[in-house]
Amino acid sequence: MLLRQPLAAFRRATSLTMLSLLKLPRLFTVQQVPKVFHEDSIVAGYRHPCSSARDCILSLFQLTNETLNIWTHFLPTWYFLYKLLTVVLIGDVWHDAFTWPLLVFLLSCCVYPLASSCAHTFSTMSTRARHICFFFDYGALSFYSLGSAIIYSAYVVPDEWVNTTFHRYYVSLAVFNTVVCTALACYSRLGLPFVHYNHDTIKRFSEYQSPKLGKTIRIGAFAYPYLFDNIPLFYRIFMCSGDGCTVNDANVLHYYHTALAFLTAFLFATHLPERLAPGRFDYFGHSHQLFHVCGIIGTHFQMQAIEMDMKLRRQWLSTHSVPITFSGTVGAAAFCVVLSLGVIYIFSLALLRSPTQKSEKGAKQ
Ligand SMILES: [Zn+2]
Repeated sequence: MLLRQPLAAFRRATSLTMLSLLKLPRLFTVQQVPKVFHEDSIVAGYRHPCSSARDCILSLFQLTNETLNIWTHFLPTWYFLYKLLTVVLIGDVWHDAFTWPLLVFLLSCCVYPLASSCAHTFSTMSTRARHICFFFDYGALSFYSLGSAIIYSAYVVPDEWVNTTFHRYYVSLAVFNTVVCTALACYSRLGLPFVHYNHDTIKRFSEYQSPKLGKTIRIGAFAYPYLFDNIPLFYRIFMCSGDGCTVNDANVLHYYHTALAFLTAFLFATHLPERLAPGRFDYFGHSHQLFHVCGIIGTHFQMQAIEMDMKLRRQWLSTHSVPITFSGTVGAAAFCVVLSLGVIYIFSLALLRSPTQKSEKGAKQ
């Protein structure tokens, strides 16, 4: 009898713990969450705006308006990681400099979907967390843009542009562009750190006061490096004629990738289809999910096109093109990461550091 009571209490406690573990967080409608969390034409399925990290992770297994945003980038991360490991384990990457641009590109293909899925997972922890999460997302996208520039310089640039002045400075300019891209994308959310916003106030436009302006700046922030990086490819597949244009089997894959890139940008800019029927695509089929899917399929075709160009042009490029260096590939990528992290740090610091804390510190001294 004496033993039965603690046993029953234990059973009750464990079943309660199990229930609380299985209990999924409540979801909200657009009217119930602050404006900063609103998504255009998405009516329901919002998570709590101050979710705990545990609730954010649990939401991976709950149908919210973000669930597919998370999974459509989380699963492809593993696919690109598998591709990266295949190249590292099968090839002689330490001695074969020709593979270094591919390694940097595949690394960027792992980083950008991973950063995006983390940003979508933890963006509902607080307003500040949301901004910082997406600052990292933008940094990862600009790293991917540099990865594309590095492979285009090594394998895609048409024969007649090889070794030209543009080709020699192309990667350096792309590194500069990544800083501009990260800074401009972060700026598109709240304005300039410390000048327009800090821990307590936002003086300038923000994502929720002037969403159109913020969105336009952000589209420009990503369109500009994308268009710059694609100059050699667009010239090769759309404009070049005669000898030296590098027409090979990879071209058709470059067309697929380019078409998907434009479709991705179209979905991001237009918010279709949910804008036509608000509330109908809250969980499945809204533009951000389609944007993720098209982006990933586009990256897949881009990778296949690159692999084909590598195979078909290796011999010719090895004898005619500028030598592939560590500083121009891994070094440039590392430099870009440091610069982008620096930009993210400055934009995040303004959100984290409270001026009242600063003045209290000053008063104590
Ligand atoms: Zn996203």
